[in-house]
Amino acid sequence: KRVFANRYHAERKLGKGSFGTVWLVTDAKCKIPDEKLKVLKEISCPDMDNDETFDVDREATLLRNLNHPGIVRFHDSFLDSDCYCIVTEYCEGGDLDQKIKEYKKEGKKFPEPIVVEYLIQLLLAVQYMHGRGVMHRDLKTRNIFIKKGKLKVGDFGISRILIGTSDMASTFTGTPYYMSPEVLKHQGYNAKSDIWSIGCILYELIHLKHAFDGESMMGVMYKIVEGDTPDWSSNYSTDLRSVFELILKKNPSERPSSKELLKLPFITKQMEKIK
Ligand code: ADP
Ligand code: MG
Repeated sequence: KRVFANRYHAERKLGKGSFGTVWLVTDAKCKIPDEKLKVLKEISCPDMDNDETFDVDREATLLRNLNHPGIVRFHDSFLDSDCYCIVTEYCEGGDLDQKIKEYKKEGKKFPEPIVVEYLIQLLLAVQYMHGRGVMHRDLKTRNIFIKKGKLKVGDFGISRILIGTSDMASTFTGTPYYMSPEVLKHQGYNAKSDIWSIGCILYELIHLKHAFDGESMMGVMYKIVEGDTPDWSSNYSTDLRSVFELILKKNPSERPSSKELLKLPFITKQMEKIK
């Protein structure tokens, strides 16, 4: 059995990520029985030079300081032979993409109160991050995990700390489904782009399919930039629909921030019920 850093004992593979293997590990040094299981992400980087190692370390330090119930806790990072390893909290419920697929297969729906609770959990997590100058940049159902019935944002692979306001570099990665119109138009990534992604996730929770879909990448991108707001199931309230329409404003300056969304009467009412 593999042991990392003399401390993390591999239990089983959770999956194969885009950069390496994801392991479920037992932390031999953890004293809290409930928290001994952790996730170790092994990122192979044979040619990483000193500068890059420095960048990753710097990023790791920033992530280490994010401490919020809606964010997958970052525990540790180190270099192990040719791999950079990141140790995080384990979320036994898996990711939201798996859960949505399971619901679809079984013909189940997420009841509205659950959808709203999930939305609030995501908004609180993002409000916390944004308040610290951190944007996620890759919010999607596959990067949202479930632990004890609550959602946690994870996988900050490409998230960056906003240094001043100059860092508006847009990023292009994998799937376009959650990308905002401004990102696709190369107008730069900003905190509102994370909010757009939350709108796409909200739609997916309700309809169990992507908000913007098509035969090709180009088709999806065209719909995001030029298409109408997608259709809405009548099984959910029009109040929730209005929140959704606010979130999917194509112009980021018209799109509310997490703080503004959390102040909407529809949301504050639900927040009181949850408490
Ligand atoms: P990548 O984003 O690099 O492609 P993934 O995030 O998809 O890698 O991870 C691979 C698998 O490990 C997925 O099935 C995912 O659900 C699971 N996984 C990743 N992080 C956690 C976690 N913190 N808790 C539970 N499962 C996780
Ligand atoms: Mg992932």
